Amino acid sequence: LKQSKAKATIAIVAAASGSASFEIGDLAVSSVRVGGADVPFTASSSALHVSVPKDADASIVVEYQFKDHGKFDGWLSKRGVSFLWPKFCGNLFPCKSSPDEGLTFSLQLAGVDPGATAVYPSAIRFDAPSYMLGIAVAKLTKIDLGTTAGGTSVSVWHLPGQDKTAKTGTTSLVASFDFFEKTFGPYKFGKAVGSVEAAWGGGGYGGMEHHPYWHVASGSMSDAITHAHEAAHGWFGNGVRIRCWEDFVLSEGSATYLAARALAKAGTDVWANYGCQLHKVCSGGTNTIVLPDSSCNAIDIITHPLWSNAPYQKGAFFLREVGKVLGEDALDAALAGFYQQHVGKSARMQMLVDHLKAKSDAAGAAKIDKLAVDWLRTNKCPIDTAMLCK
Ligand SMILES: [Zn+2]
Repeated sequence: LKQSKAKATIAIVAAASGSASFEIGDLAVSSVRVGGADVPFTASSSALHVSVPKDADASIVVEYQFKDHGKFDGWLSKRGVSFLWPKFCGNLFPCKSSPDEGLTFSLQLAGVDPGATAVYPSAIRFDAPSYMLGIAVAKLTKIDLGTTAGGTSVSVWHLPGQDKTAKTGTTSLVASFDFFEKTFGPYKFGKAVGSVEAAWGGGGYGGMEHHPYWHVASGSMSDAITHAHEAAHGWFGNGVRIRCWEDFVLSEGSATYLAARALAKAGTDVWANYGCQLHKVCSGGTNTIVLPDSSCNAIDIITHPLWSNAPYQKGAFFLREVGKVLGEDALDAALAGFYQQHVGKSARMQMLVDHLKAKSDAAGAAKIDKLAVDWLRTNKCPIDTAMLCK
């Protein structure tokens, strides 16, 4: 870390093309070896092109230097965290940032300040999107919260002086994780998980689904919803990846809904909170159609209106309404079936809508279709939200 030097060993499967290309952002590549031998490469326009043997698996070793970043677009040394979402993996390692691309990782950090704790997964052995990889290097203190019935140990890491805040926000985190495992199916990214406080600064709130050690902004460390939401991405967003950025609601609407289900089981009703957020979405200037599914990966999520609270809230309320059609427990079972069918792969939101319709009779399926139109494919909100937020 101190020298910003890195070595990436990339395993690729056999292909007929004889070449491999990666996004490399602003990395300065010094050498590329394939099968142990130096090979010519071109690195330009943020892309690395390497010749590889045709029709054979290959191991590509890339040595490079990475730059420090300040705008939530790579390794942020001042904040002591990485931030690769949505398409900035190339500023840290040669990659493919498309959300449908699944990667496994192993990772080793060197040059960590002796006064700091580095929290990162040494391995992710199950396909994950590029932006899932997260690193935190800061004065972090670990609190063990407990172990789920499935044997996953859950922790929280907090910054100095945040001990009470971290404990407040995570009182139901073990129960939430246990609920997700029992309700939707086994977790795929390891047996040790937890929330890691991220000094995003500047009123930063929310979190980022860096499983198995997801990041939560200092401003949200006391917020149980944020912890449960980021944990839920282990199932939707990471476990099941979105195929296109246009399917963002499949990740965020589902995680928002799952957090509500988990916290309800723990005795906390979050729908009044969500109702106020929905009211803001529906009555403010940032409302948008949350499923613009005429294209796939044609939008830039950072500048598109979709990058707002609308997919989170409209997506969660869509699922809540589907829960009234199917029954809440039956909806949980349907979501579990979808997760188990698609975990490790990518899916589109319409595939989930079709899956939910298939769990109902013809009348119910028609209702779910209408809910999808009203909540996902219409700008105007289908209910008067003023009543939801008093
Ligand atoms: Zn989220």
